Amino acid sequence: MAQNSLSLVWFRQDLRLADNPALTAAANNGRVLPIYILDDTAAGDAAMGAASRVWLHHSLADLNRSLGGALRFFRGDAKKIIERLTKTLPLEGVYWNRCYEPWRRQRDTEIKAMLAQTDIDNRSFNASLLWEPWEVKKADGSPYRVFTPYYQKGCLALDPPGEPEAPPARLDCYTDELEHSLRLEQLDLLPRPDWQKAMMSHWTVGESAARDRLETFCEESLDGYREGRDFPARRAVSRLSPHLHYGEISPRQAWHQAEHAAMHGHADGSAHFLRELAWREFSYYLLYHFEDLPRKNFNPKFDGFPWRKDEARLQAWRQGKTGFPIVDAGMRELWQTGYMHNRVRMIVASFLVKNMLLDWRIGAAWFWDCLVDADLASNSASWQWCAGSGADAAPYFRIFNPVLQSEKFDAEGDYLLRFCPELEGLPRRYLHKPWEAPADVLQAAGIKLGSDYPQPILELKATRERALETFKSLP
Ligand code: FAD
Repeated sequence: MAQNSLSLVWFRQDLRLADNPALTAAANNGRVLPIYILDDTAAGDAAMGAASRVWLHHSLADLNRSLGGALRFFRGDAKKIIERLTKTLPLEGVYWNRCYEPWRRQRDTEIKAMLAQTDIDNRSFNASLLWEPWEVKKADGSPYRVFTPYYQKGCLALDPPGEPEAPPARLDCYTDELEHSLRLEQLDLLPRPDWQKAMMSHWTVGESAARDRLETFCEESLDGYREGRDFPARRAVSRLSPHLHYGEISPRQAWHQAEHAAMHGHADGSAHFLRELAWREFSYYLLYHFEDLPRKNFNPKFDGFPWRKDEARLQAWRQGKTGFPIVDAGMRELWQTGYMHNRVRMIVASFLVKNMLLDWRIGAAWFWDCLVDADLASNSASWQWCAGSGADAAPYFRIFNPVLQSEKFDAEGDYLLRFCPELEGLPRRYLHKPWEAPADVLQAAGIKLGSDYPQPILELKATRERALETFKSLP
């Protein structure tokens, strides 16, 4: 290929310059036309939620700055847009990094078929996963359904994840006028200014912020990660999930940085962190091999489950007004920051699915709209795991008691007070269960249950027993 040839690089879930094989391939050919397409047409009901769009806006702005303003934005059917570009520009290469959501795979296959009719070089690369889902198989060739053998016998038996690549040494971007391209603002990714501004005040978005986050985490928190990761008030987890989701950092970069830290005395925390990265891989693996994961019970035994309908309690759950402080703190954290700590995600999910007996898909849909790290693979796999219907799932009889969980993992109430400050005046022993506080204690704390803070919307013991009975009745 001539050094002045033009190649298109289609950015998707890989909004970075480093360790980006599609960008490197395009840069090696000569001039690069970097594009992003907001394709809600092909996404259908998997179109991004509101919080994800906000993150995406900032991440694209950051990538565009790194590319010297050369990133071109489009909105609509990606196949039509790419076809039009191939017809109007002297493109010699079209490159992208692979995505694994079923709708993206189907669309990309169609685009590949369209490009195969031309003489344009078209290649896709792995930039989002440590191991390709089709590489990891049981001895009989079928996919794993249980995490530990998937990771231990499947992934770790393969070659270790490759070293991350440096950014291209030289980038010569196409800067001519381009018909139909939009300004970033025209993608319309920023709704409701007050909400999204407050939410984004908790984050720094973009490739260099992601790299800093990873470095700081490895230096400061990896050591205590194994034990600390269950305590939501501590700064023990990486908060890398949205950066990984949008590909501002690659899992290879995270894996190798943690391995490097292991050599410098953080071996235990590092092994645990790598295992969590592998849970992300496992979610993608499941989505790849079981495309219906976001919609259908992985375990068909759950297909006849008599889910209840209860709009009023569902609304209380969404708004963080259930009267259970740890649940309310989690749901408010989600709304205010676009994130929720993993331990609390499990608590609020168990509460919805088991105490309220509401369909896990309803919870997954709310998370999808509110999380900045909303990820079709991890969200679907995790909700099914919590419901008991998923691969390697929590057994149905494991029903989290939100009070005991709160007392164990947030004993001083530091986390819950951050999001439920109205409970500040309560003595610690009642913080996790305000309804048990005697009237004079509530009065002294200036709290009237039902007006300053909600009465509990359900009774824990009775709803636990109801859940166990219902689960037992499954065939
Ligand atoms: P860390 O503890 O620092 O872990 C490092 C990375 O490992 C994470 O960034 C993430 O990429 C991966 N990881 C960790 N735990 C898990 C897990 N259980 N499953 C898959 N990957 C994991 N994660 C998402 O990225 N997107 C989602 O939409 C999502 N939805 C969830 C819904 C429910 C009901 C539950 C229980 C969990 C969900 N998770 C989801 C998984 C997990 O809660 C988040 O990945 C984690 O809390 C992100 O915080 P962190 O980056 O600080 O994690």
